[in-house]
Amino acid sequence: MSTDSGAPTSSDTDEFYRLSHKVMLDLWGENFHQGYWEDEDDRTPIKEATERLTELIIEKSGLERGGRLLDIGCGVGLPAFKAAAAHPVEIVGISNNQDQIDDANQRSAARGLADRVRFEHADAASLPFADGEFDVVWIFESLMHMDRLHVLRECLRVLRPGGRIVVTDQLQLGPMTEENERLLRAHLDAMHASELLDEPAYRSLIDESGIELVEFLDLSPHTGLTGIRVLETVDERTDELVASYGEAVLPILDVFRDPAGLVPELGYLLFVGQRPR
Ligand code: SAH
Repeated sequence: MSTDSGAPTSSDTDEFYRLSHKVMLDLWGENFHQGYWEDEDDRTPIKEATERLTELIIEKSGLERGGRLLDIGCGVGLPAFKAAAAHPVEIVGISNNQDQIDDANQRSAARGLADRVRFEHADAASLPFADGEFDVVWIFESLMHMDRLHVLRECLRVLRPGGRIVVTDQLQLGPMTEENERLLRAHLDAMHASELLDEPAYRSLIDESGIELVEFLDLSPHTGLTGIRVLETVDERTDELVASYGEAVLPILDVFRDPAGLVPELGYLLFVGQRPR
């Protein structure tokens, strides 16, 4: 099911993550995002490569002097814990999936961070926060699950003037053959992801949202190995995962194994923006 804009609904993504949550924890090593590799010969394991991408997001966030950070689509909180370890920030993470929120809050308490890192169940489409409450907002690999324009405007609302937003998202690299477009569309539907935008369309979206663009990076040469590494892991561990989670895990593994996730036009971006002063 999708909304009028074609974007997935909150209940779609909740259902998807309810089923795939534990499997993803296993496969990705607890960060639900792409890895960052220097080049094709870089053999860094996926767990470490996903940590590297978090480090890049933190570096782009300008948190050295502290402040309040909102992490939209927080997974089980690993990126937030890394930011809290590096800088004297207060963090609120939100997700529309209650299992992730419970898990993330337990992890925060276990790390002794509960006084400044907490997680709440909320839908990104209507953030339960006042205007201008945050210095920095992250949308770390979750905007593809949402109505992008609507959520970017919500982010702008909760950011203080001059506050910063850091986003990673899928990006279409160049024109696609009809066959690749069909394959990819089916794959994105299975992942409950919105349509792909190319760089000009993405820049127009940012512009239309009212966000002032600071930096736009195409990270595809560094993140492209993620799909291959996940595929290798799924192949190696299918029997073990079925033994742990039962047969219900098979359709989820099929989504991750789908070669459409490897079409060369499926890229990845990072952008930094700010709320105009
Ligand atoms: N940023 C995390 C997780 C990325 S996975 C990480 O990098 O590890 C995408 C996340 O977006 C999941 O936590 C999912 O539950 C969340 N999400 C999807 N749709 C959402 C919505 N409408 N509102 C809030 N969170 C949503």
